[in-house]
Amino acid sequence: MESTFKVIIIGGGPIGLLAAHALYCAGIDFVLLERRQSIIEEQGASIVLYPQTFRVMHQLGILDVLLPLGTELDHHLSFTKDGKVFNESTRYRRIKENHGYGPVIFHRTELLQAIYECLPETSRSKILTGKALQNIETHDYGIAVSCADGSTFQGSMVIGADGVHSKTRHLMREIALKGNPLRDWDTEQPYKSTFRLLYGAFPASSLPGEGYDVQSSGKSVMYFSGKTRGWFFLYDKLPQPTTESNRYNEKEVESLAGEFADFPLNGTLKVKDLWPNMSATGLTDLQEGIVKHWSLGRIVLVGDSCHKFTTHLGLGFNNGVQDVVVLCNILRARVQETPNGCPDAETLAQVFQKYETTRKSPECSLTTDLENSGLETRMHTWSGTFYWLLSRYIAVWSIVEDFIFRFGISPSFQKAQVLDFIPALEIMKGKLPWRL
Ligand SMILES: Cc1cc2nc3c(=O)[nH]c(=O)nc-3n(C[C@H](O)[C@H](O)[C@H](O)COP(=O)(O)OP(=O)(O)OC[C@H]3O[C@@H](n4cnc5c(N)ncnc54)[C@H](O)[C@@H]3O)c2cc1C
Repeated sequence: MESTFKVIIIGGGPIGLLAAHALYCAGIDFVLLERRQSIIEEQGASIVLYPQTFRVMHQLGILDVLLPLGTELDHHLSFTKDGKVFNESTRYRRIKENHGYGPVIFHRTELLQAIYECLPETSRSKILTGKALQNIETHDYGIAVSCADGSTFQGSMVIGADGVHSKTRHLMREIALKGNPLRDWDTEQPYKSTFRLLYGAFPASSLPGEGYDVQSSGKSVMYFSGKTRGWFFLYDKLPQPTTESNRYNEKEVESLAGEFADFPLNGTLKVKDLWPNMSATGLTDLQEGIVKHWSLGRIVLVGDSCHKFTTHLGLGFNNGVQDVVVLCNILRARVQETPNGCPDAETLAQVFQKYETTRKSPECSLTTDLENSGLETRMHTWSGTFYWLLSRYIAVWSIVEDFIFRFGISPSFQKAQVLDFIPALEIMKGKLPWRL
């Protein structure tokens, strides 16, 4: 029998780090294993956060450090490829009015740094880098994790927060099929990509707060301006959808950037104006999907390891935060209820099942968020007559936007949950109430 309950978190991305915060606040011991040599690494990506996520950040004591690093988006325009404005929407203002704060864009590296540095020193010492998960063994009494450097770690359960190509998910599948090769399980590559994305950061080049899109057939652009840097996202429809994970080389990056050279970003800038000044770039396929099996025995998945969206609407990270909230609420309650503080394998399986069922149910917005982000990607890339008509001529009407907010976006935001074991004043106050 175990003497203390301990969670092994795999992955020190934003969701793994938030899980560390939540477990610390829940009084549950943990160790976090990250493959990279450093938690903070420069990448060209940005992340937009919404007010529902700020409520959780506030509970964890991160919000005051975080907010000054970001830029609130306040102006949206849609352009055609030849620079014609065909829509000026009030989407950012509506979010602010309804939920208390507009969307805020962050440099991903700074977001990670803030989350990491807000952890108390005792927790930071439990975050270990250079630890690539290699194998997981489950026993009746607990779980053993081994890493590529030969180190091993014992714990009560594993949270796999190791991203889209999750090794935890892969090992879980192996264990499941070893027991029964005919068992229904997710495929090795459970996500499908229909688009790829070239993204990058550059020194600020226009007024902060712009969040624009450029639409055309098969290709689209998003442009965001922050206080000190800007970001663009160049979306390209793949010749055909794939479940394989493509890796792109420098030549392919340059070639795709060339295809977008004359695309506008706002009223004055074009992609080719900024390309020579990029501080970082990345080219990746945009996987989409929700994994069927989120847990097995003492192993459970959160974040991109169990669901993956296109980047439109910025919902991937925001949903990962909700995974952590729902899982930790249920887990903490069961740990507290268990006399020795160590739930057994059967109890953990129930916790994980309840977590997954909740996240996939209409109680949460996960499944509609997946649909909505994919819908926006297809609308912006005019992926067929239906999407072109919808994006170019129908969604531009303010009455249609009213409808989308009233019945789609706002109810999804309102459903978001907070950690039920951390009392905090409600600081995100808009016209619409939070459900929880
Ligand atoms: C360009 C871009 C823009 C985006 N914009 C937004 C946005 O505006 N809003 C939003 O909500 N979402 C956005 N997303 C999505 C968001 O970035 C992801 O949903 C989020 O990063 C998921 O976090 P994660 O911690 O689950 O996974 P990751 O961020 O992928 O982190 C996984 C971590 O696990 C580590 N790891 C991997 N394998 C192992 C192993 N074997 N052992 C140990 N560690 C391992 C990795 O090194 C990494 O640190 C964007 C994504 C991209 C690509």
